[in-house]
Amino acid sequence: MDHYAPDNNRRRFIKLTAISLAAAPFASTLLSGTAHAAEMVAESDPQASALGYVADAAKSDKRTDTAAACHNCGLYTGKEGEESGPCAIFQGKLVHANGWCTAWVKKAG
Ligand code: SF4
Repeated sequence: MDHYAPDNNRRRFIKLTAISLAAAPFASTLLSGTAHAAEMVAESDPQASALGYVADAAKSDKRTDTAAACHNCGLYTGKEGEESGPCAIFQGKLVHANGWCTAWVKKAG
Protein backbone atom coordinates (compact mmCIF):
# COMPACT_ATOMS: atom_id res chain seq x y z
CA MET A 1 0.00 0.00 0.00
CA ASP A 2 2.93 2.33 0.63
CA HIS A 3 3.73 2.47 -3.08
CA TYR A 4 0.43 4.32 -3.69
CA ALA A 5 1.35 7.32 -1.57
CA PRO A 6 3.79 8.95 -4.06
CA ASP A 7 1.22 8.52 -6.85
CA ASN A 8 -1.44 10.17 -4.74
CA ASN A 9 0.90 13.03 -3.89
CA ARG A 10 1.84 13.46 -7.55
CA ARG A 11 -1.83 13.40 -8.56
CA ARG A 12 -2.65 15.97 -5.88
CA PHE A 13 0.22 18.18 -7.05
CA ILE A 14 -0.88 17.95 -10.68
CA LYS A 15 -4.48 18.68 -9.70
CA LEU A 16 -3.51 21.72 -7.62
CA THR A 17 -1.24 23.00 -10.37
CA ALA A 18 -4.03 22.64 -12.93
CA ILE A 19 -6.47 24.46 -10.64
CA SER A 20 -3.94 27.24 -10.02
CA LEU A 21 -3.29 27.68 -13.74
CA ALA A 22 -7.01 27.70 -14.49
CA ALA A 23 -7.65 30.29 -11.76
CA ALA A 24 -4.80 32.65 -12.71
CA PRO A 25 -6.70 34.67 -15.34
CA PHE A 26 -9.60 35.15 -12.92
CA ALA A 27 -7.26 36.34 -10.18
CA SER A 28 -6.06 39.04 -12.54
CA THR A 29 -9.65 40.02 -13.35
CA LEU A 30 -10.52 40.18 -9.66
CA LEU A 31 -7.53 42.39 -8.92
CA SER A 32 -8.34 44.80 -11.72
CA GLY A 33 -11.94 44.85 -10.46
CA THR A 34 -10.65 45.88 -7.05
CA ALA A 35 -8.63 48.70 -8.59
CA HIS A 36 -11.73 49.98 -10.36
CA ALA A 37 -13.68 49.89 -7.10
CA ALA A 38 -11.65 52.85 -5.84
CA GLU A 39 -12.56 54.94 -8.87
CA MET A 40 -15.08 57.72 -8.21
CA VAL A 41 -18.08 58.21 -10.47
CA ALA A 42 -17.59 61.39 -12.49
CA GLU A 43 -20.55 63.71 -13.02
CA SER A 44 -19.59 63.65 -16.69
CA ASP A 45 -19.96 59.85 -16.85
CA PRO A 46 -22.80 59.21 -19.38
CA GLN A 47 -24.79 57.06 -16.93
CA ALA A 48 -24.24 59.55 -14.09
CA SER A 49 -25.23 62.42 -16.34
CA ALA A 50 -28.40 60.59 -17.44
CA LEU A 51 -29.35 60.15 -13.78
CA GLY A 52 -28.47 63.73 -12.83
CA TYR A 53 -25.76 62.54 -10.43
CA VAL A 54 -23.95 65.28 -8.56
CA ALA A 55 -21.09 64.79 -6.10
CA ASP A 56 -22.65 67.47 -3.88
CA ALA A 57 -26.40 66.95 -3.44
CA ALA A 58 -26.87 70.61 -2.48
CA LYS A 59 -25.83 71.61 -6.00
CA SER A 60 -28.61 69.64 -7.71
CA ASP A 61 -31.50 71.58 -9.19
CA LYS A 62 -33.53 68.35 -9.58
CA ARG A 63 -33.56 67.23 -5.94
CA THR A 64 -36.90 67.92 -4.20
CA ASP A 65 -36.10 66.29 -0.83
CA THR A 66 -33.34 68.40 0.67
CA ALA A 67 -32.41 65.61 3.09
CA ALA A 68 -31.85 63.07 0.29
CA ALA A 69 -28.24 62.09 -0.37
CA CYS A 70 -26.30 58.98 -1.29
CA HIS A 71 -25.52 58.14 2.35
CA ASN A 72 -29.25 57.70 3.11
CA CYS A 73 -30.14 56.06 -0.20
CA GLY A 74 -31.24 52.43 -0.28
CA LEU A 75 -28.84 51.71 -3.13
CA TYR A 76 -25.79 52.99 -1.23
CA THR A 77 -23.67 50.38 0.56
CA GLY A 78 -20.89 52.60 1.89
CA LYS A 79 -20.01 52.61 5.57
CA GLU A 80 -21.50 55.32 7.75
CA GLY A 81 -19.11 58.22 8.27
CA GLU A 82 -17.02 57.53 5.16
CA GLU A 83 -16.80 60.14 2.39
CA SER A 84 -17.69 57.70 -0.38
CA GLY A 85 -18.96 54.23 -1.01
CA PRO A 86 -20.37 51.81 -3.56
CA CYS A 87 -23.77 52.29 -5.19
CA ALA A 88 -25.75 49.44 -6.76
CA ILE A 89 -26.27 51.52 -9.90
CA PHE A 90 -22.64 52.39 -10.54
CA GLN A 91 -21.04 48.95 -10.35
CA GLY A 92 -17.34 48.94 -9.59
CA LYS A 93 -17.20 52.65 -8.78
CA LEU A 94 -17.77 54.84 -5.75
CA VAL A 95 -20.17 57.72 -5.23
CA HIS A 96 -19.80 60.59 -2.77
CA ALA A 97 -21.72 60.06 0.49
CA ASN A 98 -23.13 63.56 0.03
CA GLY A 99 -23.89 63.01 -3.63
CA TRP A 100 -27.31 62.44 -5.13
CA CYS A 101 -29.03 61.26 -8.30
CA THR A 102 -32.60 60.85 -9.57
CA ALA A 103 -32.56 57.12 -8.69
CA TRP A 104 -32.42 57.95 -4.97
CA VAL A 105 -34.69 55.74 -2.84
CA LYS A 106 -35.17 56.07 0.89
CA LYS A 107 -33.00 53.64 2.84
CA ALA A 108 -35.12 51.08 4.71
CA GLY A 109 -34.94 51.04 8.48
S1 SF4 B 1 -28.75 55.65 -6.54
FE1 SF4 B 1 -28.58 56.51 -4.49
S2 SF4 B 1 -26.48 56.04 -3.83
FE2 SF4 B 1 -26.55 55.77 -6.04
S3 SF4 B 1 -25.88 57.75 -6.86
FE3 SF4 B 1 -28.12 57.78 -6.78
S4 SF4 B 1 -28.60 58.71 -4.79
FE4 SF4 B 1 -26.45 58.09 -4.73
